[in-house]
Amino acid sequence: MNRADRFTWGGSGLTLVDVYDRLYSRFGQQHWWPADTPFEVIVGAILTQSVSWRNVAGAIDCLERADLLDPRSMRDIGEEAIALLVRSTGYYRQKAKKLKSFLEYLWSAHGGDLDAMFRTPLDDLREDLLGVWGLGPETVDSIMLYAGNMPTFVVDAYTVRTMTRLGFVKPGTPYDGVRNMFMSGLPKDPRMYNEYHALLVHLGKHFCGKRKPRCGDCPLGDVCPAGRAMMESADRPVTTAEIS
Ligand code: SF4
Repeated sequence: MNRADRFTWGGSGLTLVDVYDRLYSRFGQQHWWPADTPFEVIVGAILTQSVSWRNVAGAIDCLERADLLDPRSMRDIGEEAIALLVRSTGYYRQKAKKLKSFLEYLWSAHGGDLDAMFRTPLDDLREDLLGVWGLGPETVDSIMLYAGNMPTFVVDAYTVRTMTRLGFVKPGTPYDGVRNMFMSGLPKDPRMYNEYHALLVHLGKHFCGKRKPRCGDCPLGDVCPAGRAMMESADRPVTTAEIS
Protein backbone atom coordinates (compact mmCIF):
# COMPACT_ATOMS: atom_id res chain seq x y z
CA MET A 1 0.00 0.00 0.00
CA ASN A 2 1.33 3.41 -1.01
CA ARG A 3 1.98 5.65 1.98
CA ALA A 4 0.18 8.50 0.27
CA ASP A 5 -3.12 7.11 1.51
CA ARG A 6 -2.16 7.43 5.18
CA PHE A 7 -4.42 9.70 7.10
CA THR A 8 -2.42 11.10 9.99
CA TRP A 9 -4.91 13.45 11.61
CA GLY A 10 -4.86 12.60 15.30
CA GLY A 11 -2.57 9.69 14.47
CA SER A 12 -5.54 7.47 13.59
CA GLY A 13 -3.75 5.93 10.58
CA LEU A 14 -7.05 5.54 8.70
CA THR A 15 -6.38 4.64 5.07
CA LEU A 16 -8.39 4.98 1.87
CA VAL A 17 -8.79 1.21 1.90
CA ASP A 18 -10.15 1.36 5.48
CA VAL A 19 -12.77 3.88 4.36
CA TYR A 20 -13.69 1.68 1.41
CA ASP A 21 -13.97 -1.43 3.60
CA ARG A 22 -16.21 0.32 6.10
CA LEU A 23 -18.50 1.69 3.41
CA TYR A 24 -18.65 -1.59 1.51
CA SER A 25 -19.40 -3.66 4.60
CA ARG A 26 -22.22 -1.31 5.59
CA PHE A 27 -23.78 -0.50 2.18
CA GLY A 28 -22.75 -3.49 0.02
CA GLN A 29 -22.31 -3.51 -3.74
CA GLN A 30 -23.93 -0.54 -5.49
CA HIS A 31 -24.23 -2.05 -9.02
CA TRP A 32 -23.13 1.03 -10.93
CA TRP A 33 -23.47 2.29 -13.64
CA PRO A 34 -27.17 1.69 -14.34
CA ALA A 35 -26.95 1.08 -18.14
CA ASP A 36 -27.05 -1.76 -20.66
CA THR A 37 -24.23 -0.68 -22.99
CA PRO A 38 -21.07 1.47 -22.89
CA PHE A 39 -22.71 4.00 -25.21
CA GLU A 40 -25.66 4.31 -22.85
CA VAL A 41 -23.19 5.01 -20.02
CA ILE A 42 -21.59 7.76 -22.11
CA VAL A 43 -24.95 9.33 -22.93
CA GLY A 44 -25.95 9.17 -19.24
CA ALA A 45 -22.62 10.68 -18.11
CA ILE A 46 -23.13 13.64 -20.44
CA LEU A 47 -26.81 14.14 -19.64
CA THR A 48 -26.43 13.90 -15.87
CA GLN A 49 -24.46 17.13 -15.58
CA SER A 50 -26.42 19.44 -13.20
CA VAL A 51 -29.57 17.34 -13.03
CA SER A 52 -30.99 14.45 -11.02
CA TRP A 53 -30.70 10.92 -12.35
CA ARG A 54 -34.51 10.60 -12.53
CA ASN A 55 -34.60 13.23 -15.29
CA VAL A 56 -31.73 11.54 -17.09
CA ALA A 57 -33.44 8.14 -16.97
CA GLY A 58 -36.52 9.68 -18.62
CA ALA A 59 -34.41 11.15 -21.42
CA ILE A 60 -32.60 7.84 -21.96
CA ASP A 61 -35.98 6.10 -22.24
CA CYS A 62 -37.00 8.62 -24.93
CA LEU A 63 -33.75 8.05 -26.84
CA GLU A 64 -34.22 4.29 -26.60
CA ARG A 65 -37.80 4.48 -27.91
CA ALA A 66 -36.48 6.53 -30.83
CA ASP A 67 -33.79 3.88 -31.52
CA LEU A 68 -31.01 6.36 -30.92
CA LEU A 69 -29.01 4.59 -28.24
CA ASP A 70 -26.20 3.61 -30.55
CA PRO A 71 -23.44 5.88 -31.82
CA ARG A 72 -24.24 5.62 -35.54
CA SER A 73 -27.97 6.32 -35.20
CA MET A 74 -27.31 9.31 -32.98
CA ARG A 75 -24.62 10.59 -35.33
CA ASP A 76 -27.05 10.45 -38.26
CA ILE A 77 -29.84 12.48 -36.65
CA GLY A 78 -29.96 16.25 -36.25
CA GLU A 79 -28.93 18.03 -33.06
CA GLU A 80 -32.36 19.66 -32.75
CA ALA A 81 -34.13 16.27 -32.73
CA ILE A 82 -31.80 15.04 -29.98
CA ALA A 83 -32.39 18.22 -27.99
CA LEU A 84 -36.15 17.64 -28.01
CA LEU A 85 -35.74 14.06 -26.79
CA VAL A 86 -33.47 15.05 -23.87
CA ARG A 87 -35.58 18.04 -22.82
CA SER A 88 -36.11 16.63 -19.31
CA THR A 89 -32.41 17.04 -18.47
CA GLY A 90 -32.28 20.87 -18.50
CA TYR A 91 -29.83 22.84 -20.69
CA TYR A 92 -31.00 20.36 -23.30
CA ARG A 93 -29.71 22.23 -26.34
CA GLN A 94 -26.24 22.36 -24.81
CA LYS A 95 -26.45 18.70 -23.89
CA ALA A 96 -27.46 17.73 -27.43
CA LYS A 97 -24.48 19.73 -28.67
CA LYS A 98 -22.20 17.91 -26.23
CA LEU A 99 -23.46 14.53 -27.44
CA LYS A 100 -22.83 15.59 -31.04
CA SER A 101 -19.36 16.91 -30.15
CA PHE A 102 -18.49 13.59 -28.55
CA LEU A 103 -19.71 11.71 -31.65
CA GLU A 104 -17.70 13.98 -33.94
CA TYR A 105 -14.61 13.14 -31.88
CA LEU A 106 -15.46 9.41 -31.89
CA TRP A 107 -15.62 9.39 -35.69
CA SER A 108 -12.70 11.67 -36.38
CA ALA A 109 -10.31 9.95 -33.95
CA HIS A 110 -11.55 6.34 -33.87
CA GLY A 111 -13.77 5.83 -36.95
CA GLY A 112 -16.84 5.50 -34.72
CA ASP A 113 -15.41 2.49 -32.88
CA LEU A 114 -15.87 2.72 -29.09
CA ASP A 115 -13.71 -0.36 -28.47
CA ALA A 116 -10.88 1.30 -30.37
CA MET A 117 -11.37 4.47 -28.36
CA PHE A 118 -11.06 2.57 -25.09
CA ARG A 119 -7.87 0.87 -26.30
CA THR A 120 -6.16 4.28 -26.27
CA PRO A 121 -3.67 4.71 -23.40
CA LEU A 122 -5.43 6.21 -20.39
CA ASP A 123 -3.63 9.56 -20.19
CA ASP A 124 -3.90 10.14 -23.95
CA LEU A 125 -7.61 9.36 -24.05
CA ARG A 126 -8.29 11.52 -21.00
CA GLU A 127 -6.49 14.46 -22.61
CA ASP A 128 -8.39 13.94 -25.89
CA LEU A 129 -11.78 13.74 -24.17
CA LEU A 130 -11.06 16.82 -22.06
CA GLY A 131 -10.59 18.61 -25.37
CA VAL A 132 -14.11 17.70 -26.57
CA TRP A 133 -16.52 20.61 -26.26
CA GLY A 134 -18.56 20.47 -23.06
CA LEU A 135 -16.82 17.50 -21.39
CA GLY A 136 -15.31 18.28 -17.98
CA PRO A 137 -13.12 16.01 -15.85
CA GLU A 138 -15.99 14.36 -13.92
CA THR A 139 -17.79 13.44 -17.15
CA VAL A 140 -14.59 12.26 -18.82
CA ASP A 141 -13.56 10.10 -15.86
CA SER A 142 -17.10 8.67 -15.63
CA ILE A 143 -16.98 7.74 -19.32
CA MET A 144 -13.56 6.13 -19.04
CA LEU A 145 -14.26 4.26 -15.80
CA TYR A 146 -17.89 3.22 -16.20
CA ALA A 147 -18.06 2.76 -19.98
CA GLY A 148 -14.45 1.79 -20.69
CA ASN A 149 -13.50 0.00 -17.46
CA MET A 150 -10.32 2.10 -17.34
CA PRO A 151 -8.63 2.81 -13.96
CA THR A 152 -9.38 6.49 -13.47
CA PHE A 153 -11.07 7.81 -10.33
CA VAL A 154 -14.26 9.88 -10.59
CA VAL A 155 -14.52 12.87 -8.26
CA ASP A 156 -17.81 14.61 -7.62
CA ALA A 157 -19.19 17.02 -5.03
CA TYR A 158 -20.06 14.15 -2.65
CA THR A 159 -16.50 12.83 -2.85
CA VAL A 160 -14.95 16.22 -2.17
CA ARG A 161 -17.24 16.95 0.78
CA THR A 162 -16.70 13.60 2.51
CA MET A 163 -12.96 13.42 1.92
CA THR A 164 -12.53 16.99 3.17
CA ARG A 165 -14.53 16.21 6.31
CA LEU A 166 -12.48 13.06 6.85
CA GLY A 167 -9.26 15.08 6.52
CA PHE A 168 -7.86 13.37 3.41
CA VAL A 169 -7.88 16.61 1.39
CA LYS A 170 -7.77 20.27 2.30
CA PRO A 171 -10.76 22.51 1.51
CA GLY A 172 -10.41 23.95 -1.99
CA THR A 173 -8.25 21.10 -3.34
CA PRO A 174 -8.78 21.07 -7.13
CA TYR A 175 -10.37 18.15 -8.98
CA ASP A 176 -7.09 16.62 -10.12
CA GLY A 177 -5.60 16.91 -6.63
CA VAL A 178 -8.44 14.82 -5.18
CA ARG A 179 -8.24 12.35 -8.07
CA ASN A 180 -4.46 11.98 -7.66
CA MET A 181 -4.88 11.39 -3.92
CA PHE A 182 -7.13 8.39 -4.64
CA MET A 183 -5.07 7.08 -7.54
CA SER A 184 -1.76 7.23 -5.68
CA GLY A 185 -3.24 5.61 -2.60
CA LEU A 186 -5.23 2.74 -4.12
CA PRO A 187 -4.43 -0.21 -6.38
CA LYS A 188 -5.09 0.61 -10.07
CA ASP A 189 -8.26 -1.44 -10.06
CA PRO A 190 -11.23 -0.14 -12.07
CA ARG A 191 -13.64 -2.42 -10.17
CA MET A 192 -12.56 -0.86 -6.90
CA TYR A 193 -12.71 2.69 -8.31
CA ASN A 194 -16.17 1.95 -9.67
CA GLU A 195 -17.46 0.68 -6.33
CA TYR A 196 -15.65 3.29 -4.25
CA HIS A 197 -17.17 6.21 -6.12
CA ALA A 198 -20.64 4.66 -5.99
CA LEU A 199 -20.27 4.08 -2.22
CA LEU A 200 -19.21 7.70 -1.67
CA VAL A 201 -22.28 8.88 -3.60
CA HIS A 202 -24.48 6.67 -1.41
CA LEU A 203 -22.82 8.06 1.72
CA GLY A 204 -23.17 11.64 0.48
CA LYS A 205 -26.83 11.24 -0.41
CA HIS A 206 -27.92 9.44 2.74
CA PHE A 207 -25.48 10.47 5.50
CA CYS A 208 -22.89 13.11 4.65
CA GLY A 209 -25.25 15.80 3.40
CA LYS A 210 -24.25 19.42 3.01
CA ARG A 211 -26.40 20.45 5.95
CA LYS A 212 -27.17 18.31 9.00
CA PRO A 213 -25.03 15.23 8.21
CA ARG A 214 -26.16 12.08 10.04
CA CYS A 215 -22.81 11.52 11.77
CA GLY A 216 -24.29 9.44 14.60
CA ASP A 217 -25.43 6.77 12.12
CA CYS A 218 -22.51 7.10 9.69
CA PRO A 219 -20.19 4.09 9.26
CA LEU A 220 -17.26 6.54 9.61
CA GLY A 221 -18.67 8.43 12.60
CA ASP A 222 -16.10 7.14 15.12
CA VAL A 223 -13.07 8.02 12.96
CA CYS A 224 -14.20 11.22 11.21
CA PRO A 225 -12.80 14.41 12.79
CA ALA A 226 -15.54 16.64 11.35
CA GLY A 227 -18.22 14.18 12.42
CA ARG A 228 -16.84 13.93 15.93
CA ALA A 229 -16.61 17.71 16.21
CA MET A 230 -20.20 18.11 14.99
CA MET A 231 -21.46 15.46 17.41
CA GLU A 232 -19.57 17.02 20.34
CA SER A 233 -20.91 20.49 19.58
CA ALA A 234 -24.45 19.07 19.37
CA ASP A 235 -23.97 17.47 22.82
CA ARG A 236 -22.63 20.52 24.62
CA PRO A 237 -25.06 22.92 26.28
CA VAL A 238 -26.09 25.88 24.14
CA THR A 239 -24.49 29.08 25.46
CA THR A 240 -26.37 32.27 26.26
CA ALA A 241 -24.42 34.03 23.51
CA GLU A 242 -25.73 31.52 20.94
CA ILE A 243 -29.33 31.98 22.06
CA SER A 244 -29.23 35.78 21.93
S1 SF4 B 1 -19.15 11.25 10.31
FE1 SF4 B 1 -20.48 12.88 9.52
S2 SF4 B 1 -19.10 14.35 8.50
FE2 SF4 B 1 -17.97 12.43 8.78
S3 SF4 B 1 -18.25 11.29 6.87
FE3 SF4 B 1 -19.86 10.59 8.28
S4 SF4 B 1 -21.64 11.90 7.88
FE4 SF4 B 1 -19.84 12.89 6.94
